[in-house]
Amino acid sequence: MLEYDVVVVGAGLAGMRAAIEAAKASKVTVLSKVHPVRSHSGAAQGGINAALGPDDSTESHAFDTVKGSDYLGDQDAIEILCREAPDDIVELEHMGTVFSRDANGRIAQRPFGGAGFPRTCFAADITGLVILHALYEQMLKTGIKVFEEWVVTSLVVDDNKIRGIIAIDMRSGRLEAIKAKAVVLATGGCGPVFHNSSNALISTGDGMSLAYRAGAPLMDMEFMQFHPTTLKANGVLITEGARGEGGHLLNALGERFMARYAPQKMELASRDVVSRAEQTEIEEGRGIDGCILVDLRHLGARKIKERLLQIRELAIDIAGVDPIEEPIPVRPGAHYSMGGLKTDVSGATLVPGLFAAGECACVSVHGANRLGGNSLLETIVFGRRSGKAAGEFAASVAAPAFPESAIRDADARIEGILKRDDGEKGYALRRELQETTHENLGIYRTAGRIQRCVEKVTEIKERYASVIVQDKGRIFNTDLVSAIETGYLIDLAQAMAAGALAREESRGAHSRRDFPSRDDDKWLKHTLAYWTPNGPRLDYLDVTITKWPPAERSY
Ligand SMILES: Cc1cc2nc3c(=O)[nH]c(=O)nc-3n(C[C@H](O)[C@H](O)[C@H](O)COP(=O)(O)OP(=O)(O)OC[C@H]3O[C@@H](n4cnc5c(N)ncnc54)[C@H](O)[C@@H]3O)c2cc1C
Repeated sequence: MLEYDVVVVGAGLAGMRAAIEAAKASKVTVLSKVHPVRSHSGAAQGGINAALGPDDSTESHAFDTVKGSDYLGDQDAIEILCREAPDDIVELEHMGTVFSRDANGRIAQRPFGGAGFPRTCFAADITGLVILHALYEQMLKTGIKVFEEWVVTSLVVDDNKIRGIIAIDMRSGRLEAIKAKAVVLATGGCGPVFHNSSNALISTGDGMSLAYRAGAPLMDMEFMQFHPTTLKANGVLITEGARGEGGHLLNALGERFMARYAPQKMELASRDVVSRAEQTEIEEGRGIDGCILVDLRHLGARKIKERLLQIRELAIDIAGVDPIEEPIPVRPGAHYSMGGLKTDVSGATLVPGLFAAGECACVSVHGANRLGGNSLLETIVFGRRSGKAAGEFAASVAAPAFPESAIRDADARIEGILKRDDGEKGYALRRELQETTHENLGIYRTAGRIQRCVEKVTEIKERYASVIVQDKGRIFNTDLVSAIETGYLIDLAQAMAAGALAREESRGAHSRRDFPSRDDDKWLKHTLAYWTPNGPRLDYLDVTITKWPPAERSY
């Protein structure tokens, strides 16, 4: 059996940053479903936040983040995120990230939603890809062993301690076990719980679900961010950078409708505010075929080609619209999970030896609504911190015993799916799941609709117990992996719907028509969801307030 001190699951920004740091104290390996630079981090367009300019301050960045979070973010964690950001940006640059520059040759910064200052650093509109390549080079330099196209299907936890993982090696189809003293989960988000999300198909919340089943609680799962500008056909993102560079949002009457909803910040209000405004315009009949428009024409061809090149290509290829000539039709789409595995500021979950970082974790720095540019930042700051903590933890404990029965159990589960002929196909169940969340757990929610979602997901989960696959082989069986992933999405949808039904208030991305106001007396608290065979058990946790008592939020 393979044996490492630290196993990092995921080779996106959080995973690679964690691995580089953990390798300073321990023997580390990284596993990924895909080649590292194919991770979803590479799709990030807009940028990464840090208060760099002489007129900006980390304090102001922290306040904007607290306000953006609708006061649900933990302020101690937010202060760390913002305080450590400038040094991390400089380090990324030293590692080889080529950031776009301003006229004076300094790192350029564009304005982003909900920010009081232009503090989003970027590399044109391919920021995530550029950072991902820089970290990949650094990881190669350290000599860390990467297992590509290995899909982790079990976390081995015994006596409430992590013992290692079990993964399918896609090429051989064999199950492989790795014994480890510490595991860092960096498996990204879970957008495909919803129909047409902006996320990659591989972002199926694997780490969240595996750890949840192994006893680590999920936190604040009811908060799913709907990004204001995704393409109708397939949910592909049009970056907030398009509005940051000066793009306008128009309704069918040609009005800049944000004047009615956020007169000061207009298009650069916080994402939850802009998405609700768009949905209202569409529902009240001022949309165009279920969309509103992003208008970039006034920016001019030169700026569009220099700063928003990829956006232009996506608009031409997918929507058949050249933004130099015409506005792009967009609508709000499921984009980012503010919730995730509950961790402390070192990435530790409640299971000793199990850490989490990046989108699969909830530290919580985003609270009820994440600001654009803060997620890439989180992957770097908390990837680094969790890698350090995991490396040091592993160096301080003895190698654990690995229960051999874990491999037999995992194999029996997979054989069970492969052998079954009578049941329903995984992708059909996934589609039904996505339809019910889209319809009943979207931007505006009510008790009746959420209840419908809870019942439907419970029914889908029962039917999933006899899921079948058509490909009965072992080698590169993507049908099997997709069926397993659907199981993760179902568990996460249950936690989201349960949290949403219980939370009788509107805060950030969770907007209840039947409880339209924020209710700090009853709901200034985090939701914890613990896995049980009968569905999630909810518990609550106080929000950490350091400097900024909850105040009214307007843009
Ligand atoms: C289209 C898009 C644009 C975005 N733009 C921005 C932006 O401009 N600024 C910003 O701050 N944020 C942005 N975000 C959000 C941000 O990019 C993500 O939250 C962040 O990159 C997630 O990084 P991660 O390292 O946590 O996960 P990911 O980059 O998603 O990586 C997950 C890794 O886990 C691996 N993995 C998953 N499951 C398994 C398994 N079972 N076994 C083995 N490996 C597994 C995958 O192979 C992958 O390597 C954007 C998101 C999207 C979808």
